[in-house]
Amino acid sequence: MVGVIGWPVSHSRSPAMHNAAFAALGLDWAYVPLPVEPDRVDEALRGLRALGFRGANVTVPHKQAVIPYLDELTAAARAVGAVNTIIVREDGSLLGDTTDGYGFLADLREHNVLIGSRSIVIGAGGAARSVVFALTEAGSEVAVCARDASKAEELCRAVRAAHPGARVSAHPFPNALPSLTQATPQPELIVNATSLGLHEGDPLPWTEAAVIGPGQVAYDLIYHRETEWLRLARERGATTINGLGMLVHQGARAFELWTGASAPVDVMRAAAEGAPLSDIMVALTLGRAMREANVDDAVDEAKINDGLMGKENGRDLKGEVE
Ligand code: NDP
Repeated sequence: MVGVIGWPVSHSRSPAMHNAAFAALGLDWAYVPLPVEPDRVDEALRGLRALGFRGANVTVPHKQAVIPYLDELTAAARAVGAVNTIIVREDGSLLGDTTDGYGFLADLREHNVLIGSRSIVIGAGGAARSVVFALTEAGSEVAVCARDASKAEELCRAVRAAHPGARVSAHPFPNALPSLTQATPQPELIVNATSLGLHEGDPLPWTEAAVIGPGQVAYDLIYHRETEWLRLARERGATTINGLGMLVHQGARAFELWTGASAPVDVMRAAAEGAPLSDIMVALTLGRAMREANVDDAVDEAKINDGLMGKENGRDLKGEVE
């Protein structure tokens, strides 16, 4: 048993994603939402141990609040100062890790984005911290642009403490965006790690005089739709990526830490995109049946992908299987 601790958690896509992965691999595991009020984090973590959970994800607002109640942190979680994955070890002790930075880099790799020499990260909250650590560790020079200067500066200090020599600097949001975006050489990657865009009608995490265009990548951590900022970046010619892939890959890494099994990333992505479990299982069954029948590999892959990604095609295929 595993779950996600947050407040609230009803909106989380993680249960669908992990339960689809367990079903795909035939694992007798379940993933449940665990709404935990802010003053009950300690009790909740003791409950994980007592109830025999193998682990949990942690989401807003508890990513930092869980830390005092854990027995040990990985080096990454200690450096970032946040935990999104807890592993309950054999002896009942709790290990805190963070897989957000891993998920972010894995998604960039999947989109064939090379980490460039310069990046801008807008925001200095929990997710921004993971992204800034990941980018600096990957060798990029990072400008952190946040409305709360003290948070941006503290983040830069934490990065330098963990990685002396890391090239990271703090800047005021939004005033620094025009000069940061027009600097030479141009930043290859601009990341929105604020929550601006989460709700319809939010102001843009941007300013009129800021520049983005062809040859640059705009990455928005928000994953449930194309935000206004991503749309603007796309219309100006930039390559745009939303946070769905990061969500999938951070989840896949947590899955592997808990189960020791290789995560079925395509299944998790289809579930995160909202494909019903029945369609995903049909596509998998079809894929296995076709592989066993030695059907041409190209057709096989195309149909599996159709089944995982396209709900309508998935239904057509269901007829063939049944
Ligand atoms: P936090 O609350 O920790 O951070 C939010 C950040 O947004 C802070 O820097 C905050 O500034 C800034 N912000 C909020 N409102 C404004 C505003 N009006 N103007 C300027 N800055 C603002 O949240 P998280 O870091 O956990 O999450 C940030 C976003 O990333 C969310 O949309 C979340 O859904 C997404 N996310 C996506 C993940 C994925 O896997 N794709 C994983 C984790 C998060 P201040 O500190 O001053 O309040």
